[in-house]
Amino acid sequence: MKKRILITGGAGFLGSHLCERLLEQENEIICADNLFTGRKQNIAHLMNHPNFEFMRHDITQPINVEVDQIYNLACPASPPHYQYNAIKTIKTSVMGAINVLGLARRLQARVFQASTSEIYGDPEVHPQPESYWGHVNTIGPRSCYDEGKRVAETLFFDYHRQNGVDIRVVRIFNTYGPRMLPDDGRVVSNFIVQALKGNDITIYGDGQQTRSFCYVDDLISGFIKFMDTDDFTGPVNLGNPGEFTMLALAEQVLAKVGGKSKIVFRPLPADDPKQRQPDISLAKKRLGWEPTIPLSDGLDRTIAYFAQLLAGPAAKQPRPMKAPLKKLTLN
Ligand code: NAD
Ligand code: UDP
Repeated sequence: MKKRILITGGAGFLGSHLCERLLEQENEIICADNLFTGRKQNIAHLMNHPNFEFMRHDITQPINVEVDQIYNLACPASPPHYQYNAIKTIKTSVMGAINVLGLARRLQARVFQASTSEIYGDPEVHPQPESYWGHVNTIGPRSCYDEGKRVAETLFFDYHRQNGVDIRVVRIFNTYGPRMLPDDGRVVSNFIVQALKGNDITIYGDGQQTRSFCYVDDLISGFIKFMDTDDFTGPVNLGNPGEFTMLALAEQVLAKVGGKSKIVFRPLPADDPKQRQPDISLAKKRLGWEPTIPLSDGLDRTIAYFAQLLAGPAAKQPRPMKAPLKKLTLN
């Protein structure tokens, strides 16, 4: 049945894919975004769609729209972006959660929270099941994101217990694909853009830390399956269990792109998790979901996207925000 759906953070990387997919299913979409890390370019192809509406809105402020479902994705996700204004990041997670939950309560709408594997911190249990409580520094440079997302989860479950709000909480593991910003700072986009430009590939630390990378299309299928499942609040992990060291990722990107880039080693940022791999047994059991796109295929698609972006006029367009993110330029 056709629904009216609010997507906060809908102009971002994941949000724009979600808008697209839900429009294809003939829903009406309201995309609310303050364009901090999102871009109008990501949703330019949707702007004239009769069922799509964009609102420039900051989710730290209350939002008043009439909808059947809410997906709350608003929050910068890349470490350089979320550390750029740490206080704002916490406000976005915490006040954003309160605002969408208040709206969901009033409307009796189902509300989805984009939580993260970062709530497990630097995990001592591997792979990470949902039952693991995590190992998180409360006062480090990543804490604004990790703790903000943890409080948001708490708020979701408190609104559920106290007010009967119909919640869905997903813990997303590293996801990549087209529409990541070329200067996003996350590892997949960094390595691909560096390789395409013939610049050095910057590995932080010795490159032995691991991550598990999910291609965006798989993740979005999981989101929608979860939102369409009754009687299951989560939290549920969504991610691809294929685990790689950053060195192996760099080598794979280099082998695919070719060119003259060298691998160089840079200092490891504080509190950088040493290992990360989702246990997705619960998603398989409750949602019948598992990823289908292996890293190699996803990298091919993402490389093709960035190659086109860097070759085209879009590469020369200014960022859609006033204050330049000076700290974020690639090496
Ligand atoms: P992104 O930075 O591309 O998207 C975030 C979007 O939120 C952007 O469009 C940004 O402009 C918007 N936003 C930020 N602050 C806002 C505010 N105060 N008000 C309104 N809009 C605001 O990142 P993404 O990768 O698309 O991540 C989307 C969500 O998924 C985030 O909540 C992130 O924490 C979560 N997540 C993503 C990943 C991943 O690997 N991509 C992993 C774990 C969790
Ligand atoms: N990383 C790296 N080089 C880069 C960017 C990131 O080696 O140019 C490392 C980073 O230190 C981390 C891993 O890659 O160990 C994943 O980083 P990302 O920022 O993508 O995600 P997160 O740390 O939040 O999982």
